[in-house]
Amino acid sequence: MKNTNLTVSTNRHVKISILVALLFLSLSLLISCNNEEVGIETFESNAISTSEMELASSYFGKASASDCNFEYGDDPQGPEFWSTLCNGAWVDCAGNVQSPINIITDSVIEDGDINNININYTESKTDIFNNGHTLQFTYDQGSSASLNNIDYDLIQFHFHTGSEHTINGKQYPMEMHLVHQDPITKLLGVVGIFFEEGKKNEVLSKYLSVLPKEEGGQYVSRSKFKVEDLLPGNMEFYTYDGSLTTPGCSEIVTWYVVKESITASAEQLSRFESIMHKNYRPVQDLNGRTVRTKS
Ligand SMILES: [Zn+2]
Repeated sequence: MKNTNLTVSTNRHVKISILVALLFLSLSLLISCNNEEVGIETFESNAISTSEMELASSYFGKASASDCNFEYGDDPQGPEFWSTLCNGAWVDCAGNVQSPINIITDSVIEDGDINNININYTESKTDIFNNGHTLQFTYDQGSSASLNNIDYDLIQFHFHTGSEHTINGKQYPMEMHLVHQDPITKLLGVVGIFFEEGKKNEVLSKYLSVLPKEEGGQYVSRSKFKVEDLLPGNMEFYTYDGSLTTPGCSEIVTWYVVKESITASAEQLSRFESIMHKNYRPVQDLNGRTVRTKS
């Protein structure tokens, strides 16, 4: 009797699975057909939330944050005052688990349970946006990475001049942040990569002349690239629990700061800085947190 029931319900499951699969298939066919027809114009109306603030909002289940302004450096709206701006909406910026931090390598704990970064990035079309605070490359859906055994989707990457994290007090001229989101928990995993002045960066050189200079400016192109080409050969990292480095400074980020740096020429670095200016947040107190690395 039990066996029969099981067979019936299994059969039903199979039927439902086939139906669902068919539905997905026809839906994806429909979507891909649409993509063929509509051209480059659709890029402008990309409705996917990609800014850190929007990603944080998706974690909290809130609508996108309001358009309060913030600045960098010695400014009445600078980092020192972020927590008091925006009618208390950015109070987390005064929290105890903030980023960036100075990583003191002698204090880093070696941990045998930490796993390597496992990257599964595909190609993406080019979509560069100047949001007034950084130059952001929004990445096509479908790229993922396993960071210390957690599976994340790659959403976007962007730049800070100079670096936000420092190593033993040393600040690098630029830092790239690859922003990933866990599709289930909506928590973020951000990979930080340092730039050092040196050899010209071949990947960046393709985009230097098209970087949008004005706030709100966007450059889109069908030409594909792979962000993996920007990464250093060795992806060993320091990891710690922290926050977004822009308001609202939500404490929802696991950081993976890569030890090996990459290079860009002095000219390339100053090009980024001339557009973004100094857009780094100063380092924050550790407040008892530990930084770990693979042993
Ligand atoms: Zn960043």
